[in-house]
Amino acid sequence: MRPEILFSLFAPVASLPGIGPRYAKLVERLAGPHVVDLCWHLPSGLIDRRYSPKIAEAEAGRVATITLRVGTHEAPHTRRQPYRISCGDGTGQLDLVFFHARPDYLAKILPPGEERVVSGRIESFSGRLQMTHPDHIGRLAELQKLKTVEPVYPLTAGLTLKPLSKAVRAAWSSAPDLPEWLDPAYQARQGWPAWRDSLASVHTPNGATDLDPGTPARARLAYDELLANQLALTLVRHHQRQQHGRVLSGDGHLRAKTLAALPFALTDSQKRAGEEIAADMASGARMLRLLQGDVGSGKTAVALLAMLNAVESGAQAAIMAPTEILARQHYRTIAPLAAAAGVEVELLTGRDKGKARREAVGRLTEGRSAIAIGTHALFQQDVGFRDLGLVVIDEQHRFGVHQRIGLAAKGQAVDMLVMTATPIPRTLVLTAYGDMEVSRLTEKPAGRQPIDTRTLPLDRLSEVVDGVGRALESGAKVYWICPLVEESEVSDLAAAKERCATLSARFGARVGLVHGRMKGKEKDAAMSAFAEGDMDLLVATTVIEVGVDVPQASIMVIEHAERFGLAQLHQMRGRIGRGAAKSTCLLLYQGPLGETARARLRVMRETDDGFKIAEEDLRLRGAGEVLGTRQSGMPEFRLADLAVHQELLGAARDDARLILERDVDLRSARGQALRVLLYLFERDLAVRFLRSG
Ligand code: ADP
Ligand code: MG
Repeated sequence: MRPEILFSLFAPVASLPGIGPRYAKLVERLAGPHVVDLCWHLPSGLIDRRYSPKIAEAEAGRVATITLRVGTHEAPHTRRQPYRISCGDGTGQLDLVFFHARPDYLAKILPPGEERVVSGRIESFSGRLQMTHPDHIGRLAELQKLKTVEPVYPLTAGLTLKPLSKAVRAAWSSAPDLPEWLDPAYQARQGWPAWRDSLASVHTPNGATDLDPGTPARARLAYDELLANQLALTLVRHHQRQQHGRVLSGDGHLRAKTLAALPFALTDSQKRAGEEIAADMASGARMLRLLQGDVGSGKTAVALLAMLNAVESGAQAAIMAPTEILARQHYRTIAPLAAAAGVEVELLTGRDKGKARREAVGRLTEGRSAIAIGTHALFQQDVGFRDLGLVVIDEQHRFGVHQRIGLAAKGQAVDMLVMTATPIPRTLVLTAYGDMEVSRLTEKPAGRQPIDTRTLPLDRLSEVVDGVGRALESGAKVYWICPLVEESEVSDLAAAKERCATLSARFGARVGLVHGRMKGKEKDAAMSAFAEGDMDLLVATTVIEVGVDVPQASIMVIEHAERFGLAQLHQMRGRIGRGAAKSTCLLLYQGPLGETARARLRVMRETDDGFKIAEEDLRLRGAGEVLGTRQSGMPEFRLADLAVHQELLGAARDDARLILERDVDLRSARGQALRVLLYLFERDLAVRFLRSG
């Protein structure tokens, strides 16, 4: 149960002043559903209103707070002209300009002949100074109040700064004092303020340096977040270690049959990873292993063999994929290979309902089926197993710790294998998984043809379309990836639909579309028409990013490649070059490109090695962007920036270990405060592993 002291922080954002139901939706999308999410919504800049010149000295382009006498109101003659109010201060003239103005309202707040204070950006327009829509208009007495530094927050379409700032201020200024969870000596050494003071401080910057992530207030909040992360992971891990693992050690008879049915021989990496996994499963401790392998390195086969090992020793296994498409694809790949060994497989996704689903669940509960493949639907309440021994989680970073534990709870001392295509540096594996063993697939399966990657400016689109036409003629299958439009799924979709329409006009019924907002059934239909049917050109938003396997596809066009992260481009490109045909990837960019953008596209042309690409990306963009973002697969921190706070991560890990050594159930005074910290960062689940108290 969340402690009472945090109730107000976890109230809905709609409870804040100025946030009605319409804004609430936008704020939720931007920051999150709770008041606390607005506390974590940090300023990205500031507006300094302390500049307060006489009009004669005012510099155009700067934000200023100016005292002036209101002059004549000049209403526009046409709707397109603005409403002007000429004002002055004895040294010069300045017009206040309003578009779509309400004259009666302006007459009220800016009565002719009166003195007022206005604050906003000064512009120069055909030789006259003006201010369009001042941000603030006040009486003389309010001058000092207006001459402040205002934080600027990241916004989203439809939400302006004023109401958001007001809500953020209300959020942090009403935050309660919380008990101190930091070690007092460490806090003193770092010179960090208390939690609430830190919060107030990050939201009231006085100058650009206050926005620096290295300030004591900001560092403290970052440390809090990292400590919550490390403490939660350490608690979970501690709990897992305490439970006995089971010995899963098959005799290999099923694996032998499936290996014989595989149309290829395993790579050495696959064999080695298989041995490492088998050794973990055979030991009495619970397995928690990460299988890292670049896209196309063949993680699925390794997972299948691990699952068959579990089945050989009498247990069941489950593999969980992040999307419907992937779960179905796994099913298509795995079911026939498992069948070759006489093993029954069930598919369970959010879309499987009714009788068929009940029967599938029944077969798993009774143990008639040994392997379950699915999405997060697998850990719904009604899904049970007779004896679940191994859980495999594909593309791990899409799932949280919660889901991992949720699925593991369906069996006894379940072994866990998590698979990711993200090349995460070892130290950072820590933040995502805590303490964990790692296996790596370092080679690509034999017979892969290198992908020919080229970059072209978008204005050569018609040549590209011609080229795609020729390729289609000769029987190729083509992915066409539509641009990523920032912050808006809707416009991603619009762009994809439009491209699909123009390509259909040219190539007819061979063109199809798949996007994230499609219903599951429609998505599958599109994907399988592309994989097996007569659709040859698939226009897609980035939904195909992870894991899809259509070996016949040999061409990929990516529009606005400069907008994608390198890791994401690499993931997408990994969809081609899987078959025997020579593959080509065309990266279309919108010029002119900056230095970094050009260098990044060059990296894509020059290498196909995921680890190298990640390293280069890190070097070119800085760790913050790569490691802080979703693409990297790392947990998204709101306050910590691993590029800046990496040292704090190490300290948080050590702190967490020490805390649990001394006070494993968090019963001491500091322990109680740390419980509040876990709840504050929504690591509630970890708290369940504490004995009550
Ligand atoms: P990922 O690691 O990206 O999940 P997959 O498991 O989907 O990769 O495998 C990619 C493709 O490579 C699949 O078509 C699979 O059948 C094939 N494959 C896997 N292992 C080998 C191998 N050892 N030799 C040849 N092809 C392989
Ligand atoms: Mg995969």
